[in-house]
Amino acid sequence: MNLEHIERLDRNDPLAAKRAEFHIPENTIYLNGNSLGALPIAAQQHAKNLVEEEWGNGLVRSWNRHDWINLPGRVGDKIAALIGADVGQVICCDSTSVNLYKVLHCALHMQSGRHVVLTEQDNFPADLYVAQGLAASIQDREVMVKAVPRSELGLHLNEDVAVLLLTHVQYRTAAVHNMAELTRAAHAHGVLVVWDLAHSAGAVPLTVDADRVDFAVGCGYKYLNGGPGAPAFVYAAQRHHNKLRLPLTGWMGHRAPFEFAAAYTPASGVRQFLCGTPPIISMSMLSAALTVYEHIDMTQLRAKSISLSELFLQLCSENEALQSLQLQSPVAAELRGSHLAFSHTHAYELAQAMIKKGVIVDFRAPTTLRIGFAPLYLTYKNVWDSAHILADILEGEDYLPTADGKRNQVT
Ligand SMILES: *Cc1c(COP(=O)(O)O)cnc(C)c1O
Repeated sequence: MNLEHIERLDRNDPLAAKRAEFHIPENTIYLNGNSLGALPIAAQQHAKNLVEEEWGNGLVRSWNRHDWINLPGRVGDKIAALIGADVGQVICCDSTSVNLYKVLHCALHMQSGRHVVLTEQDNFPADLYVAQGLAASIQDREVMVKAVPRSELGLHLNEDVAVLLLTHVQYRTAAVHNMAELTRAAHAHGVLVVWDLAHSAGAVPLTVDADRVDFAVGCGYKYLNGGPGAPAFVYAAQRHHNKLRLPLTGWMGHRAPFEFAAAYTPASGVRQFLCGTPPIISMSMLSAALTVYEHIDMTQLRAKSISLSELFLQLCSENEALQSLQLQSPVAAELRGSHLAFSHTHAYELAQAMIKKGVIVDFRAPTTLRIGFAPLYLTYKNVWDSAHILADILEGEDYLPTADGKRNQVT
């Protein structure tokens, strides 16, 4: 592998022009778009108008004038296009965790004779916590959260299981589940399926409608680039809309919020997942950020994500200094999402040393170095440079001395 080859890859990259649509700080290689996406210029430019015009001058009139009231559905429909859903089934609201609580509650309500929420041991901890908290609050039966090893999921699907709750791309290893197959296997036992798409939406092609997914949730601030704490989304298949029973029956999910009726009547569609007033500023930023995905062919994006990560792995295999990193992700590219995980005893210190040199990666306890490949704004040269910077750090043992052992609060 040589630099000439890398430059050719960048010249021939059909997505190369997309990079100019992002604000990437100078001397920075951003390998963390799976944790917090980079800032799209469209969002940056929208911010001024949003604050000064829509909020500052429009004030309360903007609920109508700028259609703030329908923003959750409009953003939802933009996200629907990225996950293979028809319009009217996705709504933007709340956080992934809160949305998970809502969809799990709905699914359990639809499965009144069943008492198990089946999930995998290595699911994202927040998902396990939410399932545990919800199980403890169900009054009409004893609900149990069963977290089993990934390889045993199929063995535990049976008529006791109400819901199968899985994260499509594993947050640590990037291992990807076969959504269509697992959904079909669950349905064969009458089990409803909830997919967490936090590390999938905007990174891998998804076909939730065609795969007969029941419910899904996902994140607005990772590959969707909505900004820190951007609102999340819910997908609920159309066929379930008249069976939903929301645990949070807020006025924004009411059939007619501005009639101010004393009794709650849910809105007819996916809108019933709304609870209170949407965070318009951050949702509108997400809406502007999503314009970078217009006209993107997700197959093409996936192809670039794979070749970026394959390039990194090839550089690892060619460079002696990088051999001390142990790949935790699946070797086969089609079984991975858009990041790579390596284990190393000093993963935290390595990540810090890389960040100091402008290569922003993240660390996941206890020993994972996580490297994200956001195809819309990374170049092949970025991958080449970051592998060489990491090799220099390992060779020079620059990362070793952190005598006090203190770590940042956010890693
Ligand atoms: C990032 C992530 C979340 C985030 O949930 P928040 O409510 O936004 O904190 C949830 N689930 C998974 C799998 C994630 O990767």
